[in-house]
Amino acid sequence: MTYEDNIRKVTPYTPGEQPKTKVIKLNTNESPYPPSPRVVEAMEKLDWNKLRLYPDPAMSELTRCIADHYGVKPSEVFAGVGSDDVLSMCFLTFFAGEKPVLFPDITYSFYDVWAEVYRIPYETKKLDGDFRIVPSDYYAPNGGIVIANPNAPTGIGENRAFIEDILEHNSESVVIIDEAYVDFGAESALPLIEKYENLIVVRTMSKSRAMAGMRIGYCFGNEKLIKYLNDVKYSVNSYTLNIPSIAAGKAAIEDTEYFREIVGRIKKTRENTAEELKKLGFSYFPSDTNFIFAKPPAGYKAKDIFLKLKESGIYVRHFDKERISDYLRITIGTDDEMHMLIHTLKEILQ
Ligand SMILES: *Cc1c(COP(=O)(O)O)cnc(C)c1O
Repeated sequence: MTYEDNIRKVTPYTPGEQPKTKVIKLNTNESPYPPSPRVVEAMEKLDWNKLRLYPDPAMSELTRCIADHYGVKPSEVFAGVGSDDVLSMCFLTFFAGEKPVLFPDITYSFYDVWAEVYRIPYETKKLDGDFRIVPSDYYAPNGGIVIANPNAPTGIGENRAFIEDILEHNSESVVIIDEAYVDFGAESALPLIEKYENLIVVRTMSKSRAMAGMRIGYCFGNEKLIKYLNDVKYSVNSYTLNIPSIAAGKAAIEDTEYFREIVGRIKKTRENTAEELKKLGFSYFPSDTNFIFAKPPAGYKAKDIFLKLKESGIYVRHFDKERISDYLRITIGTDDEMHMLIHTLKEILQ
């Protein structure tokens, strides 16, 4: 026996690279556009003297603002340091049973990491041959369900009826729908929180609101679930979002016009990029997100293209993982960045 035996050992989540040099960065699904000018204004107007004090642990100003925006009660909102923090708290709070938590084999690769670190039993369910979630896989007894909708890294979104079917079959465990990308496509499950008291819908400001660096995520659910979540949060770290983040989050939510503008632009660029990729012989799934999951034409290996793009200063994401190693996940950047990508791909494919 050594002290080593008493240590919690985990294999951590591997985030996409954050290169130090100037590159075209299409590897972590950040927004190519800056946050709302109202966020900048809120930062400039911040009373820095207030940083002496602890922030409001309930983040009431922000949760009230989010609640108003989405038409729910503040008691139905919980916020955290990015949706990673929100999801991690959800795993810790809602998955304390003995039956396995279920999620797809191909999905956000943080889910199994949280399950491991919190010692939550889990089972993955295979996506079908078209990378779609099979709802009946989730009819089995379970200790909870997590579905990213749209799913990552496939980019495929499902409609509300699809999610409702899973809820219909699961009244005995908490069902978490991770809607990190929902603003770019799929139908939100948010209206279902009134009908299903075991539903949690998770959102983030990192992608569609262009604030990955600010670290703000939130979720919606029945008042009772939000209370349980807060109880756990106050037992781990009471002060999560800092004062600047609370102000920035509020400003970002309030600027609907800017939000619509940048999301619209990204969707348009996505469609143009998809067309160009098709011309180059790539195949892909219709994307409901701010990225395209694309397979290079026959005779080319995704990993080789990934490496060659990197040499040219263009970062995309490649997962060295069973079933998806033939694909590249390409974040939608500005039109100029996507032109550079297509241009470089043309050279590589020659
Ligand atoms: C990006 C992402 C998150 C986490 O985003 P945060 O920056 O922590 O808010 C969560 N789930 C999925 C599916 C994501 O792609």
